[in-house]
Amino acid sequence: MAFDEKGQADSMQRKVEICTRSYNVLTRQASFPPEDIIFDPNIFAIATGIEEHNNYAVDFIEAVRSIKQTLPHALISGGVSNISFSFRGNNPVREAMHSAFLYHAIKAGMDMGIVNAGQIEVYENIPKDLLSAVEDVLFNRQTAATDNLLEIAQRFAGQAGKKSQVDLSWREKPVSERLSYALVKGITDFIVEDTELARQQAQQALEVIEGPLMSGMNVVGDLFGAGKMFLPQVVKSARVMKQAVAHLVPFIEEENKNNPNQRSKGKIVLATVKGDVHDIGKNIVGVVLQCNNYDIVDLGVMVPCEKILAAAEQEQADIIGLSGLITPSLDEMAHFAKELQRRNAKWPLLIGGATTSKAHTAVKIAPQYTGTTVHVQDASRAVGVVATLLSHTQKDDYCRDIKQNYARICERHLSKKQQSQYVSLTNARRNQEIIDWSKYQPPTPSFLGTRCLLDHSLAELRNYIDWTPFFRAWELAGQYPAILSDDTVGHEAQNLFADAQRMLDTIIENKLLKANAVFGFFPANTLDDDIEVYQGEERQTRIATIHNLRQQAAKSRGYANKCLADFVAPKALTIADYIGGFAVTAGIGADELAQSFVAKLDDYNSIMVKALADRLAEAFAEMLHLKVRKEFWGYASSETLSAPELIKEKYQGIRPAPGYPACPDHSEKQTLFKLLDVTRQTGISLTENFAMLPAAAVSGYYFSHPQATYFSVGKVNQEQVEDYARRKKMPLKTVEKWLSANLAYTPEEALPGQLENTRPDTIL
Ligand code: SAH
Repeated sequence: MAFDEKGQADSMQRKVEICTRSYNVLTRQASFPPEDIIFDPNIFAIATGIEEHNNYAVDFIEAVRSIKQTLPHALISGGVSNISFSFRGNNPVREAMHSAFLYHAIKAGMDMGIVNAGQIEVYENIPKDLLSAVEDVLFNRQTAATDNLLEIAQRFAGQAGKKSQVDLSWREKPVSERLSYALVKGITDFIVEDTELARQQAQQALEVIEGPLMSGMNVVGDLFGAGKMFLPQVVKSARVMKQAVAHLVPFIEEENKNNPNQRSKGKIVLATVKGDVHDIGKNIVGVVLQCNNYDIVDLGVMVPCEKILAAAEQEQADIIGLSGLITPSLDEMAHFAKELQRRNAKWPLLIGGATTSKAHTAVKIAPQYTGTTVHVQDASRAVGVVATLLSHTQKDDYCRDIKQNYARICERHLSKKQQSQYVSLTNARRNQEIIDWSKYQPPTPSFLGTRCLLDHSLAELRNYIDWTPFFRAWELAGQYPAILSDDTVGHEAQNLFADAQRMLDTIIENKLLKANAVFGFFPANTLDDDIEVYQGEERQTRIATIHNLRQQAAKSRGYANKCLADFVAPKALTIADYIGGFAVTAGIGADELAQSFVAKLDDYNSIMVKALADRLAEAFAEMLHLKVRKEFWGYASSETLSAPELIKEKYQGIRPAPGYPACPDHSEKQTLFKLLDVTRQTGISLTENFAMLPAAAVSGYYFSHPQATYFSVGKVNQEQVEDYARRKKMPLKTVEKWLSANLAYTPEEALPGQLENTRPDTIL
């Protein structure tokens, strides 16, 4: 905050002075990255009747402008509702003040602010006389400004603030307004009849799109961009737009037979990369961009590099966007960037998806390509990034900024890497998690080998759903159930939740998804960092080896260098220990069901189906783990945990999943799949990069020991990778490829041919 020994900064000059001083201390003395600085230069109440307060809004806005110009990369925030403090109790006036203030402050460069987003008026909808009185006050334009606003304010006093209407009075408005209203509110009920009416009244069908529909979508885009509308609402608006456009397209084609029109702002090719199957995020980005009038060519999932490039060329795309969920996709993306470079291509490249990050993009992808590569954090950022990349006036500056920014991240990353300390593999093993096996009798599972749960009851799984990640998938932040009563997103969260329940009812009632699982238990013991899995109790025949990595970062006293193998009794002690494994899916039929909604121009429900299938799969994993603890492995038969306690994983034992931090090597899934015969038993298969298909699937190991916890392997050095490659009987280069996100060193480039035989084969 702009605050020093003398107190809070009120004038523009003081605000700039204090922020500059902080900036210099932070960046020069503390080497703090400037892009991580967020200044709050103080928003104070105006129109208080005290003359010294009259210029506070101007002071803030001008300070923002100056800070953005003189302190590169620093961000600016502010507590917005302070500005209208003197109008407490008069919400319409306060909301108008907030919107107008934000409108001007954002133009000056304000990056973020604290405001009740559910209670904010659209700038354009502020009644003109009120707006002009508000802006007179904001800009301190005339001495009588405060008195004027006070007078006008009385007219609005007593009116409730903005609230969503449930009545149908909007049906009485002219058709063009009805179309815009339906778009902003996401109401499809009357869309075809209204669109048809508008078409009949227009000279040409295209006018309906370019007129009321586009203006409605622009409102949606702006509200979303300003954080006043949330993702589920936008996706619903997109559904309205699609259905209206679909009605008009045949007429437009008829009218424009010889004259294909270009109304799109640009074309973007989107794809989930080869070997990866997750696409909820990509689909959301596509829908949001479509709402903003970009043409989207969505190539789907598991798309090889060549196919993406061919499509981009053929479609004359302006931008290419890649998505991925699993770590091998990061490599795939770097490879794609290399390929762009080799072909001397010019497309800006967007990178997104759960596994991606700005740091990885900056360090591993962007350096491969002289064109622009941008990491897009989430769907709400995509529009801004795309608009800038396609803007003639902003593009060059933006690309230069991104390049500089990423280069700095790269530098920082390299220097950090050198600072980190690693211990030798031998020393790491010596510092393993200490378990006193002499006092411990591992529990014996109720059966050995595998069992299946086929076509399991979805109604039962429903009770185990963890809803918090569901809201996250829709970019609504907060914990379930508190999110339902959240001030900002609560209303939309309730709508979304209600839609989800309805969809779940339909899915369950009509058996639209199928859930299968296989799980099993095997005699097992640890040899160094490997877990040997045996055929029977005599432990003579080894049927699989689970290879693990060990933490290698230097630890402080009392902290172990952990490895999953530590949680299973060592072979040398001849203690009868066991390991379990599982693979579950609730996504059989999900693609078809989602596709049926796409065919009905309903992306909202298509995304909903996939998000729910994911939830049911996770719920299946949770429920099965419970049955394993209480019954099948049976070491916690008296466990009584509530659903929220289950979600917090407060139980004994863990179910680490290959590809997650304790066992980051996705290729180990192949061993697990062979051991449990997963594909034949459940229908879940693995892609070439070890993503599971259907996408709504979870697989992992079961460890029963009370000391077993999740941890992150982190970076490992070449010594361990070489040892691991030897144990896995795989070429070093191949292992380095699968572990690329975990290497503490930069491997030499693989030569052609060295990456062959990439399929591990560790089952004996
Ligand atoms: N309730 C969540 C459950 C999934 S996330 C949901 O519905 O989405 C938690 C799971 O991720 C764990 O059960 C485990 O399978 C996996 N996991 C989390 N941290 C891990 C780690 N460090 N190593 C391996 N697997 C991990």
